[in-house]
Amino acid sequence: MDRQRLLDIAAEAIRTDLLEPQGLNAPYLPIDDGQGEFPMEIGLAVGVTRYTGAYGQPTSIGISDHPMHQRPLDVVATLAHEMLHSALPWEVDHGPVFEQHANAMGLIGPPTSTVPGPQFIDWFNRRIKPALA
Ligand SMILES: [Zn+2]
Repeated sequence: MDRQRLLDIAAEAIRTDLLEPQGLNAPYLPIDDGQGEFPMEIGLAVGVTRYTGAYGQPTSIGISDHPMHQRPLDVVATLAHEMLHSALPWEVDHGPVFEQHANAMGLIGPPTSTVPGPQFIDWFNRRIKPALA
């Protein structure tokens, strides 16, 4: 499956399965491969949500296509993290509200660099993996 198709399928599933049940609405945003914004070592930054400015509206999402960030589970977990940003006010950033929602989605670890936990992996295997076959 090509990357854009994975992102499209995952974005819709994240929206309906992981965000809407929490009362969150993610805007429909263009998703790209980061436009060269990820020159740093992998692990430091693999996703970005762009805004019109401080306290502004989200405009687009970038997901790194670094060779070390190709595993579908990792790509989808990064997308889920960024879509959560897009569904929350800019100023929430990685604060307690972000962490609470991220954990409810099954994303664990430091809020600045969440990773998929068991609940997220189970959801991925049920909802996304079959579409990859
Ligand atoms: Zn973040």
